[in-house]
Amino acid sequence: MDAAEFRRRGKEMVDFVADYQENIEHRRVYPDVEPGYLRSMIPSEAPLEPESYEDVLKDVDRVIMPGVTHWLSPHFHAYYPSSTSFPSILADLLSSGIGTIGFTWAANPACNELETVMLDWLGKMLQLPEDFLAQGQGGGVIQGTASESTLMALLSARLKTVKCVQESDPQRSEADIISKLIAYTSEEAHFSVEKASIIGGVVIRMVPTDDNFSVRAETLEKMLAEDKAAGFIPFFFCATLGTTPCCAFDKIDELGPICNAENIWMHIDAAYAGCAFICPEFRPLLNGVEFADSFNINPTKFLLVGLDCSAMWVKKSADLTRAFQMDPEYLKHENQGSGLVKDYMHWGIPMGRRFRSLKLWFVFRMYGVSGLQAFIRKHVELAKAFKILVIDNNNFEICAEVVMGLVCFRLKGSDELNKALLKQITRMGKIHLVPCMLRGRFVLRFVVCGETTELRHIQEAWKHITELSSELLQNLFDHEGKEN
Ligand code: PLP
Repeated sequence: MDAAEFRRRGKEMVDFVADYQENIEHRRVYPDVEPGYLRSMIPSEAPLEPESYEDVLKDVDRVIMPGVTHWLSPHFHAYYPSSTSFPSILADLLSSGIGTIGFTWAANPACNELETVMLDWLGKMLQLPEDFLAQGQGGGVIQGTASESTLMALLSARLKTVKCVQESDPQRSEADIISKLIAYTSEEAHFSVEKASIIGGVVIRMVPTDDNFSVRAETLEKMLAEDKAAGFIPFFFCATLGTTPCCAFDKIDELGPICNAENIWMHIDAAYAGCAFICPEFRPLLNGVEFADSFNINPTKFLLVGLDCSAMWVKKSADLTRAFQMDPEYLKHENQGSGLVKDYMHWGIPMGRRFRSLKLWFVFRMYGVSGLQAFIRKHVELAKAFKILVIDNNNFEICAEVVMGLVCFRLKGSDELNKALLKQITRMGKIHLVPCMLRGRFVLRFVVCGETTELRHIQEAWKHITELSSELLQNLFDHEGKEN
C-alpha cells in the first residue's frame, strides 16, 4: 500500500468506524457464535502471495463482526466500561502513524515530555497532593493496565523492604526476607492483586470487609499484629477505591496512617472509580491518598480514553526506578540522569512504549474537564435511574450501595433463579451483563458503559429484564403448582 492508497483507504476506514459507532445500537450486543467459529472461516496458514485490501475488508464483515462483543453499544452493561471516544481514536491513529517507541527521552522527546505533563494535568484534575506531581520526587507514568500498575507497586515495595531489613540486618539473605513478606488486600479486590503477589513470589492475605464491603482499620491492624507476632514482615497493602464486584471503597483515610506507621507500602487501585474523582462531589472518597505510596486509575474505563492507558502516580519515583533501572550502552544518552527528563522504560516492565499520552492530550483538550465531568455525572445519574426501577419492582432487590455507574441487583430468590435469568439475558443477546458473588450470593451487575447510553436504553434494558424474569417466575410457579 503506497501513501496515495493509504490516504484513500484511511478515509474509508474512518467512515467505516463512524458508521459502525453510529449504528451500533442496532447490532446484537453479544455475539451468537460458538467457540472455534472463526478457525473454520479462514485458511489455516498465512497467504504466500499478497491479497487485496478489498478482500481483507470483506472478511472483516464476514469473519470478524459476527464474533464481536460490542463494548461501545448502549446495550452493553457488563464488567466496567471500555470508554473510548473519537478524539482518542484519532490520537491513536496519529500514534500509530508516528510509530515511535518512546522508551527514553532521546528515543522521542515529545512522547516523553507529553507523558510527564499529561500525568501532571490529570493529577491536578484529581487534586492529588503535590508529592505525586513531577516537580518533586514523585510523578506519573502511563502503564498498560491497572494490573501492571499493581505489579509494579508490589515489586517496588518488595525491593524497598528487602533493602530496609538488610540495613539493620546485613547478614540476612534476600531469599529469607522475601519468604517472610506478606502483602494484604481486600477480599473484594480485583484478582490482579493476587496475581501480582504470585508473580512477586510473596504471600498475600485477603482482608475481610465490613457491611459496606470496605476494608476497615481495625481489621487490618488485627491481621498485622498476628502476622508480626508470628515472625512475618507485612510490606504491602493494596487498597481498592471502587471494587470490581460492587464498587465499594476501602477507608483509606483510616488505613493510610497504619500503613505509614508500619512501613507498609500502600498502593491504591482505583481503576474505574478513580476517574470520577475529577468531580468535586466524588473527590472526598480519595481523602487519605496523601498516605499512599502509589495510586492508579484507568482513563480507559471512565474518561473516554481508548485502551491501553493506565495512569499511575508514585510519591517517590526513585522507589520505582531503583527496582527496575538497567543501563545498557545502546540506551545511554547525554541528558540521562540530568533530572530534567524521565526515561520511562525504568518505570515499568516493557522497554517499547506507544505514544499514549497523545490520547490524553486530545481527550482533555476536546472535552475539557467540564465535558468529562458531565460524562461521568450522566453515567451516575443513569445508574441511579436504573436503581429506582429495581427498587420499584417487588420481585427484585438492590445488593450494594449505588455510588457510581454500577448497580448490583438480583431477583429475590435462589442463586439458581438468578443464574437462569442471566443465562436467558445472555442467550437473547439484546443486552449484556455479567454477574458477581456478594457475601456468597449470586448477583447481577448492571453498568452504564457507552458514551451514547441514554435514559431510554436504561428503560428498555429494564423492560427486557423484567419480561424475562416474569417468564421465569411464571415457569417456576407452574412447575411448583404441578409438584404440589
Ligand atoms: N482493578 C479494578 C478495581 C478493576 O475493576 C479492574 C478491571 O475491571 C482491574 C483492576 C484490572 O484492570 P486492567 O485490565 O487495566 O488490568
